[in-house]
Amino acid sequence: MCRGYIFQRTCFSKFEMCGKGAQGGDRMRHLQSFARRGLLFGYTVVPMSLLEQMLEHNKAFVESGTYERFRTDRFPDKKLAILACMDARLLELLPNALGLKNGDVKMIKNAGALILHPWGSVMRSLVVAVYELRVSEICVIAHRDCGMSAIDPERVLQEAHKRGISLRTMNTLRVAGIDLDNWLRGFDNVDDSVRKTVEFIRTHPLMPKDVPAHGLVMDPLTGEVSVLVDGYKALSKRTAKALLKAGEPALLEASNAEAE
Ligand SMILES: [Zn+2]
Repeated sequence: MCRGYIFQRTCFSKFEMCGKGAQGGDRMRHLQSFARRGLLFGYTVVPMSLLEQMLEHNKAFVESGTYERFRTDRFPDKKLAILACMDARLLELLPNALGLKNGDVKMIKNAGALILHPWGSVMRSLVVAVYELRVSEICVIAHRDCGMSAIDPERVLQEAHKRGISLRTMNTLRVAGIDLDNWLRGFDNVDDSVRKTVEFIRTHPLMPKDVPAHGLVMDPLTGEVSVLVDGYKALSKRTAKALLKAGEPALLEASNAEAE
């Protein structure tokens, strides 16, 4: 691999000839010039990989001390955990649209902002966030035009087959009791999905009764959110019921007033 090949370390800014030692500045400039004009006969120009680009950026990021403005601790300043869709459009849009900055929230992301299992990793993260990381409020944020609303499990499995996953493997998984089609299924209606997910969180046996869970849907273009579930309202009713059960007559009065 290192016989006269040229590896691009930085986009048209630095080339290194493997096995032939470091290049002098003049020679480097010549190589860059030739490469730009496609004149590097006899050499293979390898474009910088994504990982290399990120590592290059990372080096500069750390060296320049840019990280200083992101410094915070592990406890979210707003005591909030968000379960959001992993959609790339929300990467910066979501925090900016809601006025959130680094350190404000615990952010959990997956496809569709869904919870598939009461004892899966999302629910575990939320429970840990509440008991260990001072989270006292939860927000589920899905969005319009979500890829999970159009997902076709059959199509995904066909694609997997084309990419080398054998039908035998799929059958073995099915025989082992894994419902692949259901596992890959998204949702038909994002509003219903958000309401269901919020309810899932609220009614989880390990979720304390005083944690409000909200349900929001975001416009992936403008960042505008619609509130489908206002966790505070639901909390009031539920707190009232909990107090009833606990036999707190003084608080019961207040709860009844709230419910009205
Ligand atoms: Zn999505």
